[in-house]
Amino acid sequence: MAYRTPLETRLAKKTTKAIVDFNLIEDGDRVMVGLSGGKDSWALIQILDVLRQRAPITFSIVAVNIDSGYENYQHQQLTDACAARGWEFHRQPTTIGAVLDDKLDVGVTPCSLCARLRRGVLYRWATKVGATKIALGHHLDDFVETLLLNLFFAGALKAMPARLVSDNQAHIVIRPLVYVTEAEARGYARENDLPVIGCCCPACGDLGLQRQRVKRLIMELEREHPSVKASMLKAIGNVMPRHLLDRRLNPGRDLQDLVATELEPLGPVPDDVQLIPLLTSRPPA
Ligand code: SF4
Repeated sequence: MAYRTPLETRLAKKTTKAIVDFNLIEDGDRVMVGLSGGKDSWALIQILDVLRQRAPITFSIVAVNIDSGYENYQHQQLTDACAARGWEFHRQPTTIGAVLDDKLDVGVTPCSLCARLRRGVLYRWATKVGATKIALGHHLDDFVETLLLNLFFAGALKAMPARLVSDNQAHIVIRPLVYVTEAEARGYARENDLPVIGCCCPACGDLGLQRQRVKRLIMELEREHPSVKASMLKAIGNVMPRHLLDRRLNPGRDLQDLVATELEPLGPVPDDVQLIPLLTSRPPA
């Protein structure tokens, strides 16, 4: 069965590559899609449904929405769109929005606490609906932005995993859109007439957020170097630990190696010579 449009073909290829590269979906899986109503989660559920109908393996899809409780959140549109497409849908109303308002001081970015709270609710729903995988709509742009955010502001060299087993080993979170750009996700949601709704969170779209700053930086770089995002994504999968400074990865050269390369060429080492100070002392300037 042919794909309906060139964009769908591209998304299908990229998503299939991610599924294969990171072993994201297996035969018999029940995949729970975290559906916020944003373009990314719509693009995700749509392309997974397309792939599900063509895949050589059998898997099912269920959508779960975590409603943060903001006024004017148009959750009915999610219910209607899923019903029209025959997608199983559940909505969990929460008070996450109010919790964020209470807990956070002015000027503090709420997104990481918000993500943690919503993740907890998603885990509970995964158990409830018998999901074997939890699929999130993070795309290529999210991966490279997170890499730079951690590099610039958190002192860590990390992005996010395409496949993550939860700390208690009970859940597997997958990100099948890792190779799909934000522009492709936006276009695909539009092409499929999916009702993109805002989360109504006050922080959403705040141009002062560090993420927005990083997004603008990447956009500027891309004008000069169109392959900059592709290069960053490649870098996340092409780590060279010996060229980093993390001593957990490079605990130092082992003693035997040092003796073989530094001391043995000089002749036998007298018994009364202490090897460690000799090996670690700096040569005279
Ligand atoms: S923008 Fe709002 S809804 Fe989105 S992660 Fe941040 S706090 Fe949560």
